[in-house]
Amino acid sequence: MSPAQHIPDQIPVGALACQKDTFLKTATTKCIGCSEKPDKKGFYEVLLHDTILFPEGGGQPNDTGFIDDIKVHNVQRRGLQHIHFTKEPVAVDKEVTLKVDWDRRFDHVQQHTGQHLLSAVLEQDPYKFETVGWNLGDKISYVELAPNNGSLPTAEQISQAEDAINTLIFSGVPIITHAENNAADDNRPDSLPSDYRGGVIRTIEIEGLDRNPCCGTHANNLAQLQSIKFLHTEKIRGNNMRLYFVVGRRVLDLLDSSYTTCKSLTGLLSCGPESFVPQITRLQTLQRTQAKTIKRLMAELAGHAVTTLVTEVKENRYAMVHREDADMDYLVLLANGAKEQKLLEENAGAVIILAGGDPSAGGPIIVLGSDDDSVKKATQILTQHLDGLKGGGKGRWQGKCKTWKGWDSAQAAIKELYTSQ
Ligand SMILES: [Zn+2]
Repeated sequence: MSPAQHIPDQIPVGALACQKDTFLKTATTKCIGCSEKPDKKGFYEVLLHDTILFPEGGGQPNDTGFIDDIKVHNVQRRGLQHIHFTKEPVAVDKEVTLKVDWDRRFDHVQQHTGQHLLSAVLEQDPYKFETVGWNLGDKISYVELAPNNGSLPTAEQISQAEDAINTLIFSGVPIITHAENNAADDNRPDSLPSDYRGGVIRTIEIEGLDRNPCCGTHANNLAQLQSIKFLHTEKIRGNNMRLYFVVGRRVLDLLDSSYTTCKSLTGLLSCGPESFVPQITRLQTLQRTQAKTIKRLMAELAGHAVTTLVTEVKENRYAMVHREDADMDYLVLLANGAKEQKLLEENAGAVIILAGGDPSAGGPIIVLGSDDDSVKKATQILTQHLDGLKGGGKGRWQGKCKTWKGWDSAQAAIKELYTSQ
């Protein structure tokens, strides 16, 4: 793109009203262009003379707002142009009133300025951790820090830095924006996007602390950040660390949601937050002990159930068992028990059908037979009576069924098969 990338009637990005004054919530300007038809996603591209709606850049997301009563869904920078995306066309040459979605904007201002501040503190003495990237997220943001001489920040350093940053916020240090004309494009910092040529270079100064080229919208002084809270850290790309944080209103929002969760847990666990960890640890231990007990009791129960199977198969040459609380493990215990008793070897043509699970929710099934033919006949009958029965295998047919509602009629049909033989 050529350096002359803005259109004559448009104030270029770098000198926008929102960049000169973060706190402008409404303004009037003129519409100087609008696409004739919407794009594939249904958006018109609207060109305004100037804007108080920040186009995405410098890690700061775009603003949203209104042009008169037409909603602006997105604002983007293209070279030094700014483009507003709307779902309705805006009349060219019309004087329009702009309104920014202030809550969204001020949230971005707090997170973005907070990032400048925390990166400045962490890259200076005594920390010396350079910020190599950052992300302004929907709820929480992070900076990516590079190690200093192979070491990443310790928990103690992070806590100290948090205190130092909150002290700076309290002291209300002024933030000054310097704008330099760079029409000749001979003085651009490397950190600028490659298509940002000419125009104005903005430098954000936290007085006495830091200077950084940046196009975003910032607070006027550090007190407007209210407070900062560091959250968890995460190792990334081998040597680097992500440090998550929230600033300003988000600190209160996070406190609010954490407090609501604490209140619910206090009710559920019948204890205060200081006892959550020991109480949950106790419940987990109890749950593991109970699971072991259940396993042992099910094995004992299976022993008794096998005795019943022996009697039934010897009497009728078939047996059908369904238990609502039985899982596949229990069915396997029964199947193994039947095998140990040589039930199928010693009773020609015999079949054993084992099933588990809630009648309406279904569950696992095993069909065992003394020969392939008996298994085949039994599964054919079962398929006719049980909805959604699926499975496979020859001597031992295994599968699952969506419902046991047809169990009684299947049982009657199997009984009839064995009585008629
Ligand atoms: Zn910035």
